[in-house]
Amino acid sequence: MTIALAILLSALAMTAIVGVRYLLTSGAFALATRVKHPGLYAGLDRQMGKEVRWSLASAAIYGVPAGVVAWGWQNLGWTRIYTEAAAYPLWYLPVSVLLYLFAHDTWFYWTHRWMHVPKWFRIAHAVHHASRPPTAWAAMSFHPIEALTGALVIPALVFLIPIHIAALGTVLAIMTIMGVTNHMGWEMFPRFMTRGPLGAWLITASHHQRHHEQYGCNFGLYFRFWDRLCGTDKGLGDFARSHGRRVPGAAAGRDAGRAA
Ligand SMILES: [Zn+2]
Ligand SMILES: [Zn+2]
Repeated sequence: MTIALAILLSALAMTAIVGVRYLLTSGAFALATRVKHPGLYAGLDRQMGKEVRWSLASAAIYGVPAGVVAWGWQNLGWTRIYTEAAAYPLWYLPVSVLLYLFAHDTWFYWTHRWMHVPKWFRIAHAVHHASRPPTAWAAMSFHPIEALTGALVIPALVFLIPIHIAALGTVLAIMTIMGVTNHMGWEMFPRFMTRGPLGAWLITASHHQRHHEQYGCNFGLYFRFWDRLCGTDKGLGDFARSHGRRVPGAAAGRDAGRAA
């Protein structure tokens, strides 16, 4: 098999993995939303269709650099990914996860702020904000330029910061789950956490919801560090209003269904 074909197959495999991971995770939380807040996504079918299409296009953009790097890791010994747990001290496992999250968060914060400059917003970021309000399917609903800025982060970091393969899996799982849940329209973490000392530094749905409502604030991804440092943190949003707007219509819809 030629090298080009092997790299192509690796990129296709990664695209499939990212796409299926997105469908399963968003699907699971969309289902949880139907159980916890029936009717929250009522009337959003067209929007959700667009969210899925943009997200699957993003999966291909994420899959290509990931596939190339995975091929190089397997065949040429690229990257600083290690599989022997003893290669670094045990304490380094959680530290490496935090390093990756912080580096990704830093990259995201500054590229996200850049994409809110009006000229770039129209080109690269309006697609993501076209979801009003976003749903669990909006996790990867990005214009290709925005998808590209996100797709390069982890493939670049694995060349710079050593990480165990399981710790890398943890980073990717956190990335996927938080990307979905931050957009699903309700808070899954308990109030004592989001409103307590931990929530003062961590980003969950309540924080990102305010970004989608007000645009010019709450730019971070995992941590409130950069938002707080740069004065762009406007605190947590409140879902009561959007839930109040959606739920009565949905109840009517269910009643109509029953009558029929
Ligand atoms: Zn968002
Ligand atoms: Zn934004």
